[in-house]
Amino acid sequence: MAKIILTGDRPTGKLHIGHYVGSLRERVKLQNSGTYDKIFIMIADAQALTDNADNPEKVRQNIIEVALDYLACGLDPEKSVIFIQSQIPQLCELSFYYMNLVTVSRLQRNPTVKSEIQARNFEASIPVGFFTYPISQAADITAFQATTVPVGEDQMPMLEQTREIVRKFNTTYSEALTEPEILLPGNEVCQRLPGIDGKAKMSKSIGNCIYLSETADEVKKKVMNMYTDPDHVRMSDPGKIEGNTVFTYLDAFCNDEHFGRYLPDYSNLDELKAHYRQGGLGDVKVKKFLYSVLMEYLEPIKKRRTEFEKDIPAIYKMLREGSQKAEAAAAETLAAVKKAMRINYFDDIDLINGQIKRYQK
Ligand code: ATP
Ligand code: MG
Repeated sequence: MAKIILTGDRPTGKLHIGHYVGSLRERVKLQNSGTYDKIFIMIADAQALTDNADNPEKVRQNIIEVALDYLACGLDPEKSVIFIQSQIPQLCELSFYYMNLVTVSRLQRNPTVKSEIQARNFEASIPVGFFTYPISQAADITAFQATTVPVGEDQMPMLEQTREIVRKFNTTYSEALTEPEILLPGNEVCQRLPGIDGKAKMSKSIGNCIYLSETADEVKKKVMNMYTDPDHVRMSDPGKIEGNTVFTYLDAFCNDEHFGRYLPDYSNLDELKAHYRQGGLGDVKVKKFLYSVLMEYLEPIKKRRTEFEKDIPAIYKMLREGSQKAEAAAAETLAAVKKAMRINYFDDIDLINGQIKRYQK
């Protein structure tokens, strides 16, 4: 069986370091491993509109931002098909048929959608499109017969929903769809990076982010203001690591070599944590270290982004070509789906012959 990747991002803002460790870094690695037959990367504008219906301009403006962040991180349109969701009409058709295979109560149980409804204050008036976006996401994944979906932990319920739809479809009609596997980052903190406020997951729609394209000054300011341990007031106080966002980010980003380069008094993160717990280590020192580590990742990304920003028409051309390739792939699946459901009337000679016989009496 061909190995196929589908994943993507909503164009609701620039991409942040949560995206990087949660999914982007993994995608680039998989892309360059050469072990996948096809890779599809989707800018999910139609999904972004489900909770931004009154602000299409936000979505429109952020498509280029996401595309630039992709290229800056090393996604390569020669190896990965990068496309825009709304340009693939087959995705809507697939969603329409999948809706019949899912119950309202099943959708109501989705924990990610539940917490997103709360974060967006939708409790009293949930848009139908938003409520049903896990079904549209199943269409996105299955349209490309994806076997592998590299995403963060918040996507687990979506993958489970997709797998249920695939099983239901294949048993109700006939085997036309592939059941995908989720691929989470191996490092647990990377599966759901918290925001700089230390509360919810880092999320564009909440705004608690460090963006990949931020200037060094902006990153420094954010790191210096980051949430740590509120009881660690004086340097001599013992500090807590659990729930301390600065240490969470170090867990996600730093390795032993970083200590040699930026903090040679310690040889690894365990030593640094032990000192912090014991007392006598100030937040500022740890934050400065985190800043240096982050900049080691962010500086080259920003440099490459600046290069790509010089030719914006080339980015739109790349997206247009990617969308054409994606549409061709989705059209094949839609044809197989219609055939499995036996609603491909005009190609079904047996159906037509059967009706002729019925009326020949
Ligand atoms: P929005 O607030 O608009 O939903 P977002 O910040 O949640 O934006 P998405 O576009 O929804 O970003 O997510 C894109 C991908 O990045 C998904 O695979 C998701 O799992 C992953 N991701 C998003 N935020 C994080 C995070 N904080 N940690 C790890 N992975 C994340
Ligand atoms: Mg999200």
